[in-house]
Amino acid sequence: MQAIFAVMRKPAVKKRLSPKEKLRVADLFDRFATLSDDPRTELAFQDPFTLVVAVALSAQATDVQVNKATAKLFPVASTPEQMLALGEAGLTGYINSIGLFRNKAKNVIALSRIVMEQHGGKTPLNRADLEALPGVGRKTASVVLNELGIEPAIAVDTHVFRVSHRLKLSDGKTPDKVEADLMAIVPEPYLTRAHHWLILHGRYTCLARKPKCGECQVRALCPSAELFVGDRGHVPSSVRVPQSRYSGGWFGGHVPAVHVPFGQASARFTAAANTAPASGACSRNRSGSMASSSMTRRVPSGWRIRSTRQ
Ligand code: SF4
Repeated sequence: MQAIFAVMRKPAVKKRLSPKEKLRVADLFDRFATLSDDPRTELAFQDPFTLVVAVALSAQATDVQVNKATAKLFPVASTPEQMLALGEAGLTGYINSIGLFRNKAKNVIALSRIVMEQHGGKTPLNRADLEALPGVGRKTASVVLNELGIEPAIAVDTHVFRVSHRLKLSDGKTPDKVEADLMAIVPEPYLTRAHHWLILHGRYTCLARKPKCGECQVRALCPSAELFVGDRGHVPSSVRVPQSRYSGGWFGGHVPAVHVPFGQASARFTAAANTAPASGACSRNRSGSMASSSMTRRVPSGWRIRSTRQ
């Protein structure tokens, strides 16, 4: 039944953009392409099976946490047979540093069994069969299919959701709606890479709490850049983003705040902030220039792309 629903999704409705917006979106992705021509997932994997396992383990965990666990797990069990031989208890020992590890161990063992029994040991590489595997939802299937170059897909995680709103690529209130908007407006040649660019941008530059607008490579094309202004960390309550269904789930209970200079929390600003479910903050001084103290760089201004494929 799950597989049937997976293929019954409505096709993305072509979103109409004004010629000016079309140009802005095209410029935006041209710019991303100059930053990183061939972006890849930062999850370590060896083949389709290990990719499915790594992506399934990455739900509500960082790629770094997953890579640390799989660096020990994959040398011992990198095939469905080996995973079944390891068993749920054995697998738990390798992944217990990752959130929801008990459930994930159960799912990885169950999906390994299905791959063995229903697919002759070969990981299925089509959306319906992938989504039918335990612990593999639409997002995981999209990441796998896109990463392996089988089907262009844009998996919407917390970074993609936030960055898409800030860059005004979508105003969707659900990951599915944001995905549909992105699939409709991202220029065709960039469809397979858009997911990675938006994740990398959200992970290293357009951070949830303090986006690095001062060093953002697409700032000139970002309608939200002017919103992220503040004064020494002061957060006027009038511009706090209200709790939404996403603040408790996708954003782990964190209700991000938007900073504005004193006395400038205009109605326009507040309205705009309220439409951005994951607004963040970086600081400006009263004259409007970016405060360098909040612009401390932990990563280079361009994305640091690490190839972790083995
Ligand atoms: S200018 Fe700021 S808000 Fe806009 S994309 Fe860049 S970091 Fe994000």
